[in-house]
Amino acid sequence: MARVLRVARSSSLFGLGSRFYSTSAGEASHASPFLHAGGASRVLAKDRNVQWVFLGCPGVGKGTYASRLSTLLGVPHIATGDLVREELASSGPLSRQLSEIVNQGKLVSDEIIVNLLSKRLEAGEAKGESGFILDGFPRTMRQAEILGDVTDIDLVVNLKLPEEVLVDKCLGRRTCNQCGKGFNVAHVNLKSENGKPAISMDPLLPPPQCMSKLITRADDTEEVVKARLRIYNETSQPLEEYYRSKGKLMEFDLPGGIPESWPRLLEALRLDDYEEKQSAAA
Ligand code: AMP
Repeated sequence: MARVLRVARSSSLFGLGSRFYSTSAGEASHASPFLHAGGASRVLAKDRNVQWVFLGCPGVGKGTYASRLSTLLGVPHIATGDLVREELASSGPLSRQLSEIVNQGKLVSDEIIVNLLSKRLEAGEAKGESGFILDGFPRTMRQAEILGDVTDIDLVVNLKLPEEVLVDKCLGRRTCNQCGKGFNVAHVNLKSENGKPAISMDPLLPPPQCMSKLITRADDTEEVVKARLRIYNETSQPLEEYYRSKGKLMEFDLPGGIPESWPRLLEALRLDDYEEKQSAAA
């Protein structure tokens, strides 16, 4: 396996280049989206960790599945939405400007988001992190081009759910302001229609100690969620075609809640026996 190489060429945009890594081995993984399972083997082979992207509409569950996979694979889960919310909470100089944009469901400028991501990657690099699962980035073609300019992405997972489920899930989303865990109080029960399968999801309720500490994201109101979905369809959907044309896109229709979807996702990623293989290799 080729050694991991730091990208010599720095990005012409926003100075992102030196903070991403690339590998010549990455080239081999472009042929089929399923070769990302090769990405998983590379973790076992200690070559380099996976570099994956999660795409999907707001509320689809990118954070949930990206976070579970990051724990399984030992790579950081980096959600640009979290970076934006941290910046908002910090009351730093950007905070007021960002809150206006985010509360209307609009996208932050490519420059600001690339800078936030760049800082996060730099901090991770200093702690010895390698590989990543990106959630919420790229969101525009420009961001995808910047990313493509500075690193190899092994796999792009596109999570999908019907729009009415997405709205219910966003409106039901809650976070415990003490432990930081996410929950969902929505009962989803979508009947089968026009050949599309029924989807039901039980709420993911918090334990009693979190119950009185639940907060709702300021941008999870019906009006803002609908604006975010419209913006996703206009701005982010072209990314699906972009990554499909590169042979990197894996479409995944979520069959239901976590209990049904997680094992099916692991199977689709050929990671269903990953833990066993890892302990065998240890
Ligand atoms: P999320 O948690 O991914 O829904 O992101 C929350 C908000 O942060 C979005 O509605 C945007 O305003 C902003 N944001 C997050 N990621 C990006 C990105 N890649 N590009 C532009 N804005 C972003």
